[in-house]
This record gives sequence, structure tokens and C-alpha cells, in this order.
Amino acid sequence: MEPSGQRLTLRGIVQGVGFRPFVLRLARECGVSGRVWNHAAGVTIEGFANAEVLATFTRRLRTEAPPGARIDDLSSEAMAGTAPAAFTIEPSGAAAERVVSIPPDLAVCDDCLAEIADPAARRYRYPFTNCTACGPRFTIARDVPWDRPATTMAGFAMCDACRAEFEGPGDRRFHAQPIACPACGPRLRLVDAGGHPLGEGDAALRAAARALRAGGIVAVKGLGGFHLACDATFAPAVSRLRERKRREQKPLAVMVRDLAAAARHADLREEERALLRSPARPVVLVERRHDSRLAPGVAPDNPLVGLLLAYTPLHHLLLEAAQRPLVMTSANLSEEPLCWRDDEARERLRGLADLFLVHDREIVAPCDDSVARCIAGAPTLLRRARGHVPGALPVARPFARPVLACGALLKNTFCVGAGAAAHLGPHVGDLENVATLDAWEAAIERALRFLRVTPEVVAHDLHPEYASTRYALARPEPLKVAVQHHHAHVAALMAEHRLEDRLLGLAWDGTGHGTDGTAWGGEFLLVGADGSCERIATFRPLAMAGGDRAVREVWRLALALVEDAFDGAPPTAALALFDAVPRHDLHVVRQMLASDLNTPRARGVGRYFDAFGALGLVRARSSYEGEVALLWNVAADPAEPGRYPFHLHTRHLPWEIDLRLTARAAVRDLMDGRGAPTVSARFHRTLVAAAEEVVRLAARHHGRTPVGLTGGCFQNPLLAEGLLAALGGFDVRLHREVPPGDGGLALGQAVVADAVARKSL
Ligand code: ZN
Ligand code: ZN
Ligand code: FE
Repeated sequence: MEPSGQRLTLRGIVQGVGFRPFVLRLARECGVSGRVWNHAAGVTIEGFANAEVLATFTRRLRTEAPPGARIDDLSSEAMAGTAPAAFTIEPSGAAAERVVSIPPDLAVCDDCLAEIADPAARRYRYPFTNCTACGPRFTIARDVPWDRPATTMAGFAMCDACRAEFEGPGDRRFHAQPIACPACGPRLRLVDAGGHPLGEGDAALRAAARALRAGGIVAVKGLGGFHLACDATFAPAVSRLRERKRREQKPLAVMVRDLAAAARHADLREEERALLRSPARPVVLVERRHDSRLAPGVAPDNPLVGLLLAYTPLHHLLLEAAQRPLVMTSANLSEEPLCWRDDEARERLRGLADLFLVHDREIVAPCDDSVARCIAGAPTLLRRARGHVPGALPVARPFARPVLACGALLKNTFCVGAGAAAHLGPHVGDLENVATLDAWEAAIERALRFLRVTPEVVAHDLHPEYASTRYALARPEPLKVAVQHHHAHVAALMAEHRLEDRLLGLAWDGTGHGTDGTAWGGEFLLVGADGSCERIATFRPLAMAGGDRAVREVWRLALALVEDAFDGAPPTAALALFDAVPRHDLHVVRQMLASDLNTPRARGVGRYFDAFGALGLVRARSSYEGEVALLWNVAADPAEPGRYPFHLHTRHLPWEIDLRLTARAAVRDLMDGRGAPTVSARFHRTLVAAAEEVVRLAARHHGRTPVGLTGGCFQNPLLAEGLLAALGGFDVRLHREVPPGDGGLALGQAVVADAVARKSL
């Protein structure tokens, strides 16, 4: 049979993950001749063989792709031409072509791990071992394309042995750009807080491990920045770390060597194991085992713990030497951005770390650990960073003009949309201080430079005071589009699922600026891919006495809730929460509520969680935004079947869910001595029932559409899973790759701004 030609174009994560060498091996194995090359949109293969062989080759491309690769799209077309004699890798596309080829960082692979454990191997115990399937990528790239001279490995001249591997087509380090070995690569160093050297190489690593075993705090330079590490089983070390970091309650991530070690601290479901092991190696929120040896201070009052597996050879060696799980928390003072440069780390972490385990492979782009959780049986990214950034998210409709979307305020990211892809920037934190804002702006400039994109449209939140809004408005591009917060949440979910029609989105979160200037956050929005947005329903607003103060002093929200529910005569004396509040404060806030002074109204479901949680858990304050809401969620007894009554007012649009009856019933339960697990479960079930009623009614009035769950409240599995069960007959969409919280917001802003900008083309 005559060989026929076929051109295959693959999109997804197919660059910098050892994909071209894999294609080469497979082609030779199958007997396909031709060539493969990288370009802006992915990888193209021109293959020649008989049809049957080509079909096998194409199938095996999908089924045998390297672990870090992900094929989103594979298109093939027949092509004319003469078959070349062999199969070859062509250099990356011509300079004129946009080359977008920096892949996300990848966790160390099993082959490299086996090598560093082998006393006979060249890279025995070498902490910077990597190959085409693993190692640093995004965080060490100075420019595109993905080639060693454009990385921070440029200054390390390859030794002969490394060069032979790099140039050997059959080698698993063929074209591994960050290739290194003890003879030619980066080295570890241990220094004290004064900058004095204490050791190099393996001696440095062992001394750091000794310090950790003795209860010390060590700053460890990793892949995307510094971590602060300490013994996670030693309570005094954990509390000292909290004190120094000025982080009172927020959970700290714990790193373990492998799944067996993780299983000692949590009963892992199959999907949680897979998530822990995935190449991005995120921090995974799991339920802590009662017999876990982790110090309670790792996650105070919280049944969940964030576990992650070692993801670099350095982490493996350190954990092996330390012989215990380690707290591995982003190295910063609370609220400041992650530290990633050596000089800056020594300056800023001076009072935080006793020792610094550093190395001479420079990090150019900081990238925090990603955070994920299994919701409704599948992984959901809660924080998108290392291992995912700068991966492209394919969109259903290519952007008409390049868009930069600036996000909101908390847990902020940005999004660059161009061509058929959207690129979410890494998590940088809350844009509430100059350092974080600087880091965020630098990340934007870098993304635009790497993507070779000059934005023509700039999207921002409606809130005029957000730093991201001010930044957007100060940018030179003339076309600005303000996108309402919850509209953006729903649009982000649509974009993630590539929905091209309409979606009824439940956008539930803490707060977001509404089109009427008030705070929204319990929204049911019918959103169209054409940029339209109709508000179908919302929640009755809750009074926030003292404005944002009520976000931390949640007892204010609880008081507003019961004042409203009991028509100004709530049984506060019978509720334990209010015993914990000074009588004078109670009096002042009551007056504020009565006179409406400095008391904005907020519709966020997150605020209802705060209010009910404060009552049920007898907690007057949140030490960080959303703490009481989170604890109220985890308090619920999933086996409790009951729920409370509620009202749905449908006389005019938007309809309004009224939880005054719910609050009365919950208060009665608490006064009858029912515990938080029961009351919280009933509260959750009430929200599910109310949402279900709205969705069914909306389907009758506005037509049946898919239903989407978005906003920070849907990080709560009980709520998401409850609604999935209640809406059995509906096509219900949840976030997976894009965070449900504000970390995913910029994607929605980008697609809405694109739809709006099209109309002004
Ligand atoms: Zn490897
Ligand atoms: Zn070498
Ligand atoms: Fe939000």
C-alpha cells in the first residue's frame, strides 16, 4: 500500500513535557516517517505511513502521552507530499510566529526519583535532578520559547555527560532544557539568619534536616518561591511559626513523602489519592484522621488539613532526612506576597526563619502552591498556581481582540485572552498592600511579554475602589469594560465548560459590587454568551452594622439576622453568642441597626453563613475573612435529614429568598439545646431547597437551561453536592480547572468584555 500523509494538530499541555521526544519514539516504533514541531498553538505532526499504521499511531498518541501532558484537542487532515526517509524533530516555529510554549512546572517523575535513590547513579542524592517529563519550567523562564538560553539555567555550562544525554534522541533527557547534574548544575547551601555559610551540598541538606528535627524553622527555596518549614508533629514549633508569621488561625499546609505517609493523616478516597499524585502536586484539602500525629495547631478547630506530596527531589531528600511530615507554608508575613529572591528572602524573612536552605538556580517568576479539593467526587482547583500556570484554557469562541482582565480584590489573579485561549495568571493574594500589587503588576507585564500580546480591551470590576479597577483605568488602552462581579463568576463557569448559549448561574459568595451600588452575593443570573445578564433572584439583604467590620466581627451579622427575624425583639439573652459580646457594643450595634447608620446591606450567602455560624458555633469573630463560614460548613452532620422553612417572594424580579423563618427556626433549635452539627446541616439543606425552588420556577418562566454553581460558597462540598442531588433532572455544571472563588473571576471578565467589545467593533 502507498504511504499516505496526515497532518495532526494537537492542543493542550503538549510543550515542555517531553512530548516531541515521545512522538519521535512512537513514530519510530510504529514505522511512521515525517516530522514534529512546536508552535504557538501547540504541536503539529506530519506523518507518513499506510492508513492502518497512521490510525494506530494516532490512537497511541492519546493513550500513551507522557504523564505531564494533556491533549485537549487533536485534529487531523490528509496531506499531499512525499514521505521523507525518517522521522525528525524540527526546530520551533519561525521567529515571526508567536511562540507560546512555556509549560507549567512539573513534579519530579518516578524515574528521576529512582535515580537519586541509586548509589551507583551519577545523580545519587542530587536535589536538582530533572528530565523531559519533570522539573522546573514557568518559574525559571526568562523569555519564550522554552529553550535553555532563555532560562535561569543559561549560566550553567553542561558537562559532557549531560550534553550527551541532552543531544541523544533516545535519552529521556533529550532536549530537557533544565538538565543538570552534581558536576555542572546548581548547588545547595545552608546559611544562618546573618548570612553566614553553614554548609554546602548534601551536608547542607542534612544540617537543615537536623535543625527541623530539633524544632527549628527553616526557609526552604523551592520551585516557585520560599517555604517556611517546621516539624508538623511538634506543637511548639508550629505555634512559634504562627507567631512569627503573624498568622493566627489559617490552616498551614503539610508536606509528606508519599501517599502512604499521607494516609497516616487522612482517610483518602481514590480521587483524593489521584489528586495528591497528579503532576501539579497541589495542596489537597482532606479530612484529618483522629489518630493523626499532626500538631492541632496546623489547622486549629478545623477537621480538614491541607496535605501535599513532595514535588521536587530536594523535598524528597529533606523529608527523608527529617523523618517526619513538615509544615510547608508560603514564606511571607501574613498578607504579604510570597518571597522568591535570595536577597529579598533574607531581608524579609529575617525574624521568621532560623536557617535558610538556598541554591543558585534563580527563580524569575514566583508561583505559590496550587490548592485543590474533591467536590462531588471530582477534583476542583481552589487556588490556581504552580503546576497549572501558565497553561492555556481553550475558549469556545476566539477573542475578537486581545483582552486583559484585572480581576477583583481578594485572592486576585488576572487573565489574558487572545486567539482561542485564555491564560489565568498565578494566585498572588489579596491586593491590599503595595508589595502584593507590585507582584501582581509584574506578573501581568510578564504574561503579556511571554504571550506577545498587546491588549486592546481592558476588563475590570464594577467596584470603583479596588486597586485592580484603578490599575485598569490607568492603563493606556482606550477600551475599558466594567463587568459586574457575579456576572463574571457565571461567565467564568460558562467559559470553562465552553458553553455557547445560556446558563442559569448561582453566584454565591461573600461580596461583590452590584449594578445598583449595593453588595450582592446570593445571585441567580441568567447569563448569555452574547454578554447578556438577567438577574432572576437574590437573597434578602442582611444589615452590616459598621460596614466591613462586620466581616470580622460576625456577631454583628448574627445580631442583624435575629433583629430582622424577630421584628426587633430577638431572644438575645437566651443565645450564648451574645454573652461573649460586651454589653455596650451590643447596645451600640443595636442602635446602628435601628437607625440605619453606617449600615450597608449585603446579599452575600457567605454573610448568612457568618451570621448563622456565629450563633451556632458561639463565635463572635473571624480571624480571617470567611473563617466562621468555613467552620460552619465543616460542622454540619451530613446524616441529618431535616431543614427549616423559608420564603420565596416572586411578586417582581428579582425574586427574593427570605431566610427570616429559617433564622427563627434555627434559634429555636439552639435554645432547645440542639447542637451545631444538626443546626448547620438543616441550614445547608434549607439553602439547597430554596435554590431548587428558584431553579425549577426559573425553568418554567425563562426556559430550561443548564445550571451552574459558582462563587466562593461552592468551595463548600455539602452545598454543591446537595444541589447536584436536588437538581437531578438538570444539567448542573461545577468548576473544575478554574477556581469557583475570586481566583477564577478574571476569566469571566475577559469573555464578557470580549462580547461587549464585539458590539463596538
Ligand atoms: Zn524526571
Ligand atoms: Zn552535568
Ligand atoms: Fe466573588
